[in-house]
Amino acid sequence: MSEVEQTLSIIKPDAVERNLVEQIKEIFIRNNLIIKNTKKIILSKDEAAEFYKVHQSKPFYDRLCSYLSSGPIVVMILEGKSAILENRRIMGATDPKNAEPNTIRKLYGLSIDKNSVHGSDSVDNAKKEINFFFKN
Ligand code: UDP
Ligand code: MG
Repeated sequence: MSEVEQTLSIIKPDAVERNLVEQIKEIFIRNNLIIKNTKKIILSKDEAAEFYKVHQSKPFYDRLCSYLSSGPIVVMILEGKSAILENRRIMGATDPKNAEPNTIRKLYGLSIDKNSVHGSDSVDNAKKEINFFFKN
């Protein structure tokens, strides 16, 4: 039986800039993910570096942090059955070139850097990432 989960989604600067927020939210809703909480924010580069700390040893880390802090983003808690995997499926592969048809990254991603959305990849990371943006 699949469990109800929460996961963190981010609509990245390239998609916010192109006014794709409502279209992307619509895709989540159509796929039975409920948007529990949402806010539009701008991260500092230090905050982006903290958020993406798991990638600190990667060659693309600095560029990734500069990019995520380059403009407004929309962060959301998505909730639903197997929400973590479901969101990853709906997003598509990291590189839009390899993403399945009708996934968000296939539809809207511009490149592996500007791939329009982020989604948590495990139960543990979902908890950490939700807590990062929605501490109460
Ligand atoms: N990324 C990149 N170059 C790469 C791999 C990843 O710019 O070669 C960026 C990309 O925007 C990706 C983010 O780093 O979304 C985090 O990478 P991850 O492997 O966690 O991909 P995701 O979980 O976002 O699919
Ligand atoms: Mg990831």
